[in-house]
Amino acid sequence: MAPDASPHSTILILGGSYSGISTAHYLLKHVLPRLSSSYQVVLISPSAHAMCRPACPRALISDEFFNQDKLFVDIATQFAQYPGERFRFIHGSAVSLNSEGRTVSIAPVSSDVNAAPTVEIITFYALVIATGASTPSSLLGFNSGGRESLRENWSVIRKALPSTKSIVIAGGGPTGIETAGELGEYLNGRAGWFTSKLENPKVKITVVSAGAQILPILRPGLAKKAEDMLAKFGVTVLKSTRIVSMSPQISGGSLENLVTNTTITLSNGETIETDLYIPATGTTPNTAFIPKALLTADGRVSTDTQTLRITNFSATPRIYSIGDCSSAFRPAVHNILSAVPILVANMKKDLLLAEGDQATGNDRLFKEDTREMQMVPIGRSMGVGAAMGWALPSWMVWLVKGRDYWLWTTGGLWSGKHWAKES
Ligand SMILES: Cc1cc2nc3c(=O)[nH]c(=O)nc-3n(C[C@H](O)[C@H](O)[C@H](O)COP(=O)(O)OP(=O)(O)OC[C@H]3O[C@@H](n4cnc5c(N)ncnc54)[C@H](O)[C@@H]3O)c2cc1C
Repeated sequence: MAPDASPHSTILILGGSYSGISTAHYLLKHVLPRLSSSYQVVLISPSAHAMCRPACPRALISDEFFNQDKLFVDIATQFAQYPGERFRFIHGSAVSLNSEGRTVSIAPVSSDVNAAPTVEIITFYALVIATGASTPSSLLGFNSGGRESLRENWSVIRKALPSTKSIVIAGGGPTGIETAGELGEYLNGRAGWFTSKLENPKVKITVVSAGAQILPILRPGLAKKAEDMLAKFGVTVLKSTRIVSMSPQISGGSLENLVTNTTITLSNGETIETDLYIPATGTTPNTAFIPKALLTADGRVSTDTQTLRITNFSATPRIYSIGDCSSAFRPAVHNILSAVPILVANMKKDLLLAEGDQATGNDRLFKEDTREMQMVPIGRSMGVGAAMGWALPSWMVWLVKGRDYWLWTTGGLWSGKHWAKES
């Protein structure tokens, strides 16, 4: 069969974070050099920087906790190691996907806010959708912006913290609990060793959780331990409770709404006056630009859980999806890191087949590790967690994650050193 890839065919990767950057490095290091046709990896991201997203619950409070040059890393610099004909970075957002026509429209991010965006249409030979997910709070990740807008949001809350008397955090998952712990320790300090609860905290911090247990991925005993640790920072946890209304209604997602005095009414009939409201109630996949036919009911890219090809791959070949935008597995960095070599191996197989190489072997199959696995720092020296089904002591959660929220791991991911060997 004649190769159907023209010289410099484009392998387009949408999203410049854990999934997109890792996939790009892995392809550039281990696949492109082995193919006879010539490809260019084109990486698109509305943020010019990659960031250690798990660090947000602590980083939002002050720059003192992290080296900002490690927290935010310029993406283009990380790919300067590859020849220009192999790699191109576009600072922009995918605004529409035509899966049959095999094009993606890209709106560039311009430093000139008055400039009319000139949409670029890119024809792809293969496509990886790795656009992740946005948080309801604009404090906990890039969402549609980049480093500058995130830092601007942080500066708003930082200015407000010294006069804040009450904070409500919605959501009892790890992000809500970590944020409560960090704010609690920073604003209230910690109760003494022999005191289980900080009485009369300077700032009243309340976590409102709809579930009967916080941290639902962990066993109940660990969730209870987390609640006890939070109490030492003066944080109250309300379980099986929902926010039913707010006056005025605030979303937490926009800059104007970050710091607003509001009255929150709970499903138990109580009301809380709060200066600061932080929603940490899950994420929304960044897939608005993708045709509905390629999405699951909850808006994620419908993806084969084993091969990481999109589910209607036969109709629209060589389209893949990975990470928080995809339906393939639970959103977590360890899952992404296990999935990257599988996705790229299957992509390599598909590219070789298209080049006419029939001896490409079987698909590699991804299997998610569903054992109890999550680490949740509670403040700067405690935490709860489990790995591979084993409960971890607090000091180990601190050692592995709580010290710097995984910042020790991201340098190698962004630079590609983590992917030096093919696995
Ligand atoms: C506060 C917080 C703490 C977390 N802590 C942990 C943790 O401790 N451990 C863990 O395993 N996981 C943690 N997670 C989850 C983890 O951060 C995600 O699983 C991971 O970031 C997903 O990576 P991703 O590359 O798939 O997507 P994301 O990190 O969401 O990145 C998506 C990228 O796509 C870009 N993008 C968005 N829209 C478009 C578009 N239209 N076109 C092009 N690009 C686009 C974005 O700018 C971004 O660069 C945490 C998440 C949050 C929010």
